Amino acid sequence: MNDLTPEERDAPIYSTFSELYEKGFSLDTVTWVFVLGIHIAAVALGIWAVVAAPQDWAYIAGIWGITQFVLGSLSTTLYSHRLITHNATRQVSLPVHLFFCVFGQILSVQGSVRRWSANHVLHHGVDRHGKKELDPYSATWFPDSLRNFLWSHTLTHLFNHPESEEYQRAHNAKRHAVIMWQDKYYGLLTTFWLFLFPMGLGYALGGWVGFFSLMTGSMVASVLVQHNTWTVNSVTHMWGWTKGLRSSAVNNYIWLGPLGEGNHHGDHHDFPRDYRNGFGWSGWLLDPTRYCILALRALRLVGPLNSASVREEAEIFAARKLANIRSRSKISAEASELYEQLEARVLELRKDWLEAVSRWESLRKESKLVQQATARRNEIAQEIRAAKAHVEARKEEFFAAVERLHSQIPGYAN
Ligand SMILES: [Zn+2]
Ligand SMILES: [Zn+2]
Repeated sequence: MNDLTPEERDAPIYSTFSELYEKGFSLDTVTWVFVLGIHIAAVALGIWAVVAAPQDWAYIAGIWGITQFVLGSLSTTLYSHRLITHNATRQVSLPVHLFFCVFGQILSVQGSVRRWSANHVLHHGVDRHGKKELDPYSATWFPDSLRNFLWSHTLTHLFNHPESEEYQRAHNAKRHAVIMWQDKYYGLLTTFWLFLFPMGLGYALGGWVGFFSLMTGSMVASVLVQHNTWTVNSVTHMWGWTKGLRSSAVNNYIWLGPLGEGNHHGDHHDFPRDYRNGFGWSGWLLDPTRYCILALRALRLVGPLNSASVREEAEIFAARKLANIRSRSKISAEASELYEQLEARVLELRKDWLEAVSRWESLRKESKLVQQATARRNEIAQEIRAAKAHVEARKEEFFAAVERLHSQIPGYAN
């Protein structure tokens, strides 16, 4: 799979939407009527709140909407995505399951956790087996950006997809009792939290004005949180700067998406079981969901968290550099000859860098172990500083070698 160049991997497999019908896709009537219905309701109620609602109630509708938007976004990102689909931890406590399944995730209007998770497993599965016709929301099925955007962003959700063995397997993978229960009663839970609850509470507090105001908050937030979540499948697989290694996902460092999921999507595809969404300092800066997961961990509501080691991150960075230069070296016989001549040196520098990273990492671990023993502390701190400097030097040497190779390959433009 990794031998394919990004161009080969992302080549289209369909030319128009109508081909999908021949492959067994069909419109899902309940879903498209529901999605269209909440869009119409959101626009109509939104206009009413701006033009005709009393100002106090318009503010209340706004606060209601923002709360649902944040909670819904967080629930998909934190719970359905990182904790459940990607097993960022092995232990999720019952209160966490209950809060998100019974309440939080319903607000994101993304289908049940079980269904969402199965589809997302298929989305990532493609990075391993390459059968991209199985990726339910691929952004590379069609030859043009418009079709790819429309499909990955919205249309995919309005269709019944042909069922595959892989889908059945993914669907059966998440069998926690609360998740199964939510899947069974998803329709009722949605009816209650998105409609009956705001309607009833609004009417009790403010009669028909209250009824329509809270429904405005609920409908507008439902539409916004849906589109916000869908951008992870569309925007982050189409536009950005740093290309991931295994997928069409790209790091764009700007688009936060649902609370941190949208900006380092390339990093996420290259190390999916990480509780964080991105490597390095920009990952810390752009990922509010990781703070919430760390808070759950501090409260012992979830178990130990998975994350890439510094060595694993460095391996991914090095592999990206090499994949980029390998695909560039294919552009001419001259370039490929040059690459062959310099490949051994570049690979040696990569090895030196990764070994330096490992040494630094093991020293840091050792340092934690001997923190009580003050006699060794200063000595180790000094060794760590030296090891870190060594890592930087080896990394720079590897990057410089790759850059030299880049500049010598004719036609290199990236
Ligand atoms: Zn993705
Ligand atoms: Zn994912």
